[in-house]
Amino acid sequence: MPTIVWFRLDFRLADNPALAAAAQRGGSVLPLFVWAPEEEGAWPLGAASRWWLHRSLGRFDSVLRCMGSRLILRRGPSLRAIRDLVAETRAGAVHWNRRYEPAAIAAEASVRKSLERAGIECKSWNAALLFEPGDVQTRSGGPFQVFTPFWKACLALDDPPAPTATPRTLPAPRTWPASLELTDLHLDPGDAGTAGMEKAWSPGEAGAAKALDRFLEQALEEYPIDRDRPERRGTSRLSPHLHFGEIGPRQIWHGLGRRVSGQRKSRLSNGAQVFRKEVGWREFAHHLLVHYPRTPDRPLRGNFESFPWRRSAGDLEAWRAGRTGYPIVDAGMRELRGTGWMHNRVRMIVASFFVKDLLLPWQEGARWFWETLVDADLANNTLGWQWSAGCGADAAPYFRIFNPTLQGERFDPGGDYVRRWVPELQAVPDSYVHKPWDAPDKAEGARAAAHRGYPAPIVDHGAARVRALEALAAIRAATRAPAARRQKRK
Ligand code: FAD
Repeated sequence: MPTIVWFRLDFRLADNPALAAAAQRGGSVLPLFVWAPEEEGAWPLGAASRWWLHRSLGRFDSVLRCMGSRLILRRGPSLRAIRDLVAETRAGAVHWNRRYEPAAIAAEASVRKSLERAGIECKSWNAALLFEPGDVQTRSGGPFQVFTPFWKACLALDDPPAPTATPRTLPAPRTWPASLELTDLHLDPGDAGTAGMEKAWSPGEAGAAKALDRFLEQALEEYPIDRDRPERRGTSRLSPHLHFGEIGPRQIWHGLGRRVSGQRKSRLSNGAQVFRKEVGWREFAHHLLVHYPRTPDRPLRGNFESFPWRRSAGDLEAWRAGRTGYPIVDAGMRELRGTGWMHNRVRMIVASFFVKDLLLPWQEGARWFWETLVDADLANNTLGWQWSAGCGADAAPYFRIFNPTLQGERFDPGGDYVRRWVPELQAVPDSYVHKPWDAPDKAEGARAAAHRGYPAPIVDHGAARVRALEALAAIRAATRAPAARRQKRK
């Protein structure tokens, strides 16, 4: 009897346990993707993600066709689409690799319940994470909220299983069931605004493998330093590939392990350990999302519910457009618009500017990232924004406020990154490139920046800092008051 492999976010042949098990089960294998945006909860895919998904599905279908197979495309709801395919093909089993977002967990649970009731075998695997969320626990059996002990606990566990082998063959059915065309899903925005993404990325399993190889060969050993330098190609740029499952974290873990003689974790180079730890942050984010499913919209630290955020359409638009007058912030926001990606250091700077200098609600920043990032990922994005806002797990204390000028001078000392994305600053001397407003009138290029339309800062960082600290003091006082009243009553 045929086996349906329900592809979720795992568009790869290698280390794909659901596909490998289906191939071994005997009978034909029916690869299926169901487009069900309504099952993403409040977070349906943004434009950049849809751009990526369109290409990822197309490339995956080509790879399957090289093996005599193909990807069947259907529209959701998932349960209906799978039930229909079971009925059409008399499939006896449905296999898939699990997703870990709350809405996806619910969708998978309802598929399982209904199919099992009808006597269809359902099997699911973990192909997205190094460890199962329930397997990494504090001593008292709860979830970790701080990264360092979380990662220590992960490293104390057995190594994640080695990647499953790529199936050699995928037996095809005698006749293929009907499939939609990829263009029927209307994923690809198809406008000129995506030219930069086209140039920057190569979606698909082959693109992911190439990105990993490049990184391991050219950048791994310098990673501990270069990962904070946005003008260098010092990071792996694997995030969209990881999100869409074109490569899995176990392939990275064991790929690093193969680079040392012997397999002992402790013998990894410093670069490899630091890199693996960053992949650990992804792991942490996903475990947190499983344990705290409301955090994409609500702060993990409840006292931040009453934080006095501002509303300002003008400031929001200036930030989105990369016209805040702070060069490093604007460069990051323009890199995002131009390529669908932004360097991690710069993500931290623009997010801090958003929540602390502009005092805008972190959820609005997260929504813009969601719409524009090719690697938009509910777990990582939530962790990143709550961390920046000071209201999440392992968050930087709210009173620690990034100074965007000093951050720029420290991490982009020659101004190369800023000049690349903010051409108005091309002629501004190095010493003023992160603070063009300070340049003496006669400094070559400083006035040119203004002439070329670069805006003055939309907010004074010093004043904004004081305003942010006052807002923090207000919620602290509000949280202390009821506690003090409770104390008195005792
Ligand atoms: P590398 O440095 O090469 O790291 C390798 C992998 O480790 C990454 O691909 C990623 O999967 C993981 N990783 C690295 N840093 C982090 C981190 N801080 N948190 C979680 N995982 C990490 N990452 C996303 O994948 N999707 C998002 O939507 C996202 N939103 C973010 C929002 C904010 C405000 C911040 C501060 C960070 C966000 N990140 C997000 C995390 C991080 O910025 C990106 O994962 C990283 O920049 C991707 O580039 P890379 O693949 O070259 O990373």
